[in-house]
Amino acid sequence: MKLKKLLITFLVLTLVFAFSAVGLAETYTVGTSAGFPPFEYVEDGEIVGFDIDLMKAIGEEMGFDVTFEDIAFDSLIPALKTGNIDVVAAGMTITEQREEVVDFSNSYYSADQSIIVKKDSDKDISVIFGDNDISVQTGTTGDMWATEKLKEKGILTGKIKRYDTFVLCVSDLVNGNVDAVVLDSPVANRYAEMRPVDVVGIIVTGENYGLAVNNGNTELLDKLNEGLRRIRENGKMAEIIDKHFK
Ligand code: GLN
Repeated sequence: MKLKKLLITFLVLTLVFAFSAVGLAETYTVGTSAGFPPFEYVEDGEIVGFDIDLMKAIGEEMGFDVTFEDIAFDSLIPALKTGNIDVVAAGMTITEQREEVVDFSNSYYSADQSIIVKKDSDKDISVIFGDNDISVQTGTTGDMWATEKLKEKGILTGKIKRYDTFVLCVSDLVNGNVDAVVLDSPVANRYAEMRPVDVVGIIVTGENYGLAVNNGNTELLDKLNEGLRRIRENGKMAEIIDKHFK
């Protein structure tokens, strides 16, 4: 009888301990937009990529769990503002305009903008001038660049077609519905390996990617920066870069 009591006490204690241990690890919801290979994309129904591995590695290092939500790129900041997500990890460029509403971590990758056209077309960089149609992902720096530097200046007289994802932009290009797509250089290079498209020009914009949190969420921002620092130091970052950019 005594033994039984002891056993029950032991079991109860084990359960209490297990639950409190689970409760200790905080879970952050990470928003991403999974049409941006190799940073985030869907493979066999799962969101994978550089940013996904990066957030998992930071979480592991700093003792928090992560879950991912795939949302349209231009809805990421609104989702952060309403508290539906805690972090944006989406190859998001640190810009002054965005910094007014969110806080960015230290930069973890850099990029320029590239122009891609359909493979074997005779088009070159001049495709961004005159009566051509260009597609971009809504709310990206490629969208802003094409709008401000090409469309508003009258250099481009054709249309800018905006889509929720670059997957749709590239499909439109391959199907011959637009003449070019403007997108981040590392992603353009990856699409050029995966789809019948060619990079015909690079616009040096010198962008830096950061992880974003809501304005003033310094507790989480500090964890992200410390996590980034540690994974740079312990070689995990180099491993993730190697894995996605062999
Ligand atoms: N780096 C670009 C931006 O921040 C594009 C990011 C993306 O499409 N995921 O606007």
